[in-house]
Amino acid sequence: MKKSINLSTLIRAELLELKAYSSARDEFSTSETMTFLDANENPYPSELNRYPDPYQSKLKSRIAQLKGIDSSFIMLGNGSDEVIDLLVRLFCTPYRDNILIFPPTYGMYKVVADLNAVEVKTLPLNQDFQIDETQALDHIDEHTKIVFVCSPNNPSGNTMKREKVFNLLNNFKGIVVVDEAYQDFSKEQSFINELSAYENLVVMQTFSKAMGLAGARLGMCFANPKIIKYLNRIKPPYNVNNLSQNVALKTLNNYSEIETQVNQILNERSELGLALKQISWVNKIYPSEANFLLVKVDDANQRYRELLDQKIVVRNRHNQPGCENCLRFSIGTPEENKLLIKTLKQLSHS
Ligand SMILES: *Cc1c(COP(=O)(O)O)cnc(C)c1O
Repeated sequence: MKKSINLSTLIRAELLELKAYSSARDEFSTSETMTFLDANENPYPSELNRYPDPYQSKLKSRIAQLKGIDSSFIMLGNGSDEVIDLLVRLFCTPYRDNILIFPPTYGMYKVVADLNAVEVKTLPLNQDFQIDETQALDHIDEHTKIVFVCSPNNPSGNTMKREKVFNLLNNFKGIVVVDEAYQDFSKEQSFINELSAYENLVVMQTFSKAMGLAGARLGMCFANPKIIKYLNRIKPPYNVNNLSQNVALKTLNNYSEIETQVNQILNERSELGLALKQISWVNKIYPSEANFLLVKVDDANQRYRELLDQKIVVRNRHNQPGCENCLRFSIGTPEENKLLIKTLKQLSHS
């Protein structure tokens, strides 16, 4: 163990004592052999007449197997967005504590903090979209509870250098959250492998990107069981519905199909990158370890509007720090990418 934590100083005092709602399905989970007259459900069988398993044990054991960790290290949320919210609420006392983020990055960290009256400290990424971890450690004060590291980072697409993340893990007393929403598209190792060494590490992944289930709303949180225990206490009891649990299980049981799609997307990412280089008004294509490319153009607002006129929706990141005149292109199917390139070539030259 390289880093252990003292949760009693990190978790909000009132939550250390919180007595969680004990649901009917907390006390007994559904199985075929028992007669369930405890939860006021409609007894007539349908796909959805029973409440879902509040701890999603089947799905978690499948995820645990796939990721090579124990189920006790996993909490599932209604999207990563719920996980972010639960983490902020578990560790940060409103009007007192703060989080640190590194813009340009995923927008939800700040939204969630703002919603919870938690101050947001920001330290922009450098020119290469990397963290200056020495400055980060200077930015931190005794009320900084969480540092959010997004790797691969949205919208820049690069991974954070591992030694920088380790520097934060080793020297910051609070929680380091590594958001790995795009991990399946990256060559870098996941930080899940570091959970046994660092109790202050929380890793997030999601079913929304590579797994193809953005509509199911299912986010994964990996952390020390001590942290997971508290997240389970504060989460809404039935936060992941039966339909989502079932569709996720089905997808994981057919994982080779996802791998095929990911490989296709990675091929398309290189192809799109090469094609974009041929366009005169494209100034820079940032290296990507995700399923999108950040691209600097001559005039992002103009190109965004021109693409919309052609019924192609991309993400305009012009107003994000360090992303002046940048557009973010998600990698589509080969047909969609061909259409994008064809359309880009037809736009006016500057
Ligand atoms: C898309 C994305 C997520 C996914 O959030 P969900 O709520 O699971 O859909 C999380 N983090 C980052 C950085 C993302 O880009």
